Amino acid sequence: MARYTGANCKLCRRENMKLFLKGERCYKDKCAFERKEYAPGQHGKMHKKLSDYGVQLREKQKAKRIYGVLESQFRRYFEKASSVEGITGEILLQFLERRLDNVVYRAGFASSRKEARQMVKHEHFTVNGKKVSIPSFLVKSGMVVEVKEKSRNHARIIESLDTAVGRGIPEWITLDKQNFKAEINRLPERTDIAYDIQESLIVELYSK
Ligand code: SF4
Repeated sequence: MARYTGANCKLCRRENMKLFLKGERCYKDKCAFERKEYAPGQHGKMHKKLSDYGVQLREKQKAKRIYGVLESQFRRYFEKASSVEGITGEILLQFLERRLDNVVYRAGFASSRKEARQMVKHEHFTVNGKKVSIPSFLVKSGMVVEVKEKSRNHARIIESLDTAVGRGIPEWITLDKQNFKAEINRLPERTDIAYDIQESLIVELYSK
C-alpha cells in the first residue's frame, strides 16, 4: 500500500503539534518541532485564519498522520464507526487505537508506529499464539500480543522495551516485559487517548 515517504517532522510542524513519528528522537531535544514551532515553507511563520472547513480538515489530517493511515482506509474506519451505536468520533479513534501496529507501539515493542508496522509485516508477532502480519488487524479485549520466540533478541525490540515505560504504556494494555507479552485487558476509551484531536470535527467533515 502507498505510504507517505516525505519528511515526518514537517508533518508535526504543519499540524502544530508533536505527532511522535520518529521514535526516540521525538522525546529528545533534537525534535524539530521543539526547535521550530511553526509550519514549514516560506510562509510558515504567518498565522492564517482557517475557515471552518480548514479547521475540520486539519483535525482529520492530524489523526491520519498520527496513526499513519491513508485517506481511503481512514474513511473506511469512519464508515465502520458510523454504523456502530455510540459516539462516532470516539469509536473512530478506538478503531485506530486497536490496530495491531498501534498496539505494538503502545505496548513498547517499537518506538514509533512506523517501526511497529514494519515489524508486524516482518512477522515478529503473534496474537493469541497465531502469526499475524497485518498492521491493520484489530485487537479485541482479552487478546495477547506476543513477540515470537525467535524475534526476542531483535535489537530494536529490546531497545524499545528498555525505554517503553518512559514513553508511557496505556492502562488498557498490560505489558509483561519479561515474557515479551502484552495483554489487551479492555478496549481503549477516549480518556486513554491523550492526543489533542477534536474528533467531532472529523465527523462534521465527513458528514457534509
Ligand atoms: Fe515530530 Fe519531533 Fe518526532 Fe520530528 S522528532 S516526528 S517533529 S515529534
